[in-house]
Amino acid sequence: MDELSKKIEDPVWAARSLFERGKATGSSANLSFVHRGHIYITSSGTCFGRLTKEDFSQVTMDKEHITGKKPSKELPLHQMYYLKDKKIQAVVHTHSFYSTLFSCKNKGVVSGTVVPSYTPYLKMKVGTIGMVPYAEPGSEELFGYFKDTVDYYDAFLLANHGPIVGGKSIMDAFYGIEELEDSCRIALTLED
Ligand code: ZN
Repeated sequence: MDELSKKIEDPVWAARSLFERGKATGSSANLSFVHRGHIYITSSGTCFGRLTKEDFSQVTMDKEHITGKKPSKELPLHQMYYLKDKKIQAVVHTHSFYSTLFSCKNKGVVSGTVVPSYTPYLKMKVGTIGMVPYAEPGSEELFGYFKDTVDYYDAFLLANHGPIVGGKSIMDAFYGIEELEDSCRIALTLED
């Protein structure tokens, strides 16, 4: 098996796992990873439940399309994450229920980490969480808001939209998005 096929095994597993446990639904989620300086991102309209190697688009760090289907329209969010820090090698974005609900209830938080640390794990596994103001998905306005926020936090909630988490590997980003989802669930339950 070639190196890329081997590397795609973890993202395919993580995507399916998120889908099977209802943390990614329909075709709403996207993920990417870096391999030899290029971004491999799930293509537009793919479903996490049935992802295969053929569902990835290969693009340069300047978002230039190389091979595969049309990349997810949320590619610029992934690209900005990679450009901010070379240690980030994978990004996962979903519309998972509790993170999204938390982003709706707390969209007015404009500075500081937005998700409280009721347990130590969010801070340990992810770090700080920034809120990105709402703008239509895939819009230049949203990309602008993300650009303004990306340098200041480790992971993000897009207001009225969902979480986006980067990591040093796809598994690291996967653990992060799981921890963020659980932390939002705990906060919402305790503060109810
Ligand atoms: Zn989205």
